Amino acid sequence: MTSIPLVYSPFYSYSFPANHRFPMSKFHHLYQCLDAQGVIKNNNVFRPGRVKAEVLALAHDDDYINRFENNLLSTKELRKMGLPWSEPLVKRSMISPNGTLMTGSIALNHGIACHLAGGTHHANYDHGRGYCIFNDLAVAAKSLIAQNKAKRILIFDCDVHQGDGTASILSDDEHIFTCSIHCEKNFPHHKATSDLDVGLPKGMNDAEYLIVVEETLYQAIQLSQPDLVFYDAGVDIYANDGLGYLNISTDGILARERLVLSTLKQHNLPVATVIGGGYDKDTPALAKRHALVFQAAQEIYS
Ligand SMILES: [Zn+2]
Repeated sequence: MTSIPLVYSPFYSYSFPANHRFPMSKFHHLYQCLDAQGVIKNNNVFRPGRVKAEVLALAHDDDYINRFENNLLSTKELRKMGLPWSEPLVKRSMISPNGTLMTGSIALNHGIACHLAGGTHHANYDHGRGYCIFNDLAVAAKSLIAQNKAKRILIFDCDVHQGDGTASILSDDEHIFTCSIHCEKNFPHHKATSDLDVGLPKGMNDAEYLIVVEETLYQAIQLSQPDLVFYDAGVDIYANDGLGYLNISTDGILARERLVLSTLKQHNLPVATVIGGGYDKDTPALAKRHALVFQAAQEIYS
């Protein structure tokens, strides 16, 4: 059995206030979970370094980047961002966009690659929001287009919250198609306009949800004709997620991951996955839900 390429940095999780709603330890727990499941082998983990300044600037304002790096954001900006500023936060925030870029590059060569982070889709051009500082999806997609490694990219975002930052940053980018399937009555209350948006009612169950994902993915592929897909596999669609309002079971999440990845494989479309959102005080249990997309990738691609 061949192994799927993974992208991970040990700097993704760091010592963080335990009572904070953002589960900063989940990246480390996900690594441990994938290790225990045998998904991590001795030669399939790629480790990203800091993103280059000129790459980050493809999707973000220089002044915002500098002020974040140097702890010069206003109290209001920090409140919107939702995470306490610290040096380790800066470090992980500078690495993660490069991790998604690396995942996209590897996927183009290998058909699949999976990032153990990423999907910070609320980050906008000149401000952070909703636990998101830099928009790794926009940065990575813009960089691959600029390098001429891809001509058209689809960002298929299944996190329960709308990918408003991604939609906003990429609204005028004709090379990158944004698609978001989210719970309509959930954060962010003012939605941006993606190229294709599907707002779901609260309480939707597995069967209804999987039909929407299947139909929307086909539509997004037809409309975008991509040569690479970034898939945000947010697990905050889970019934008991701390910040989601859908009613999707663990089996439903695994079925979604199999559906999305097998469809993309049938279309011969390379896919780079990012983990997106997921909120639970029981971080190891949360990590198991994030591991489902890796499990599906392993089944389908190895
Ligand atoms: Zn989310």
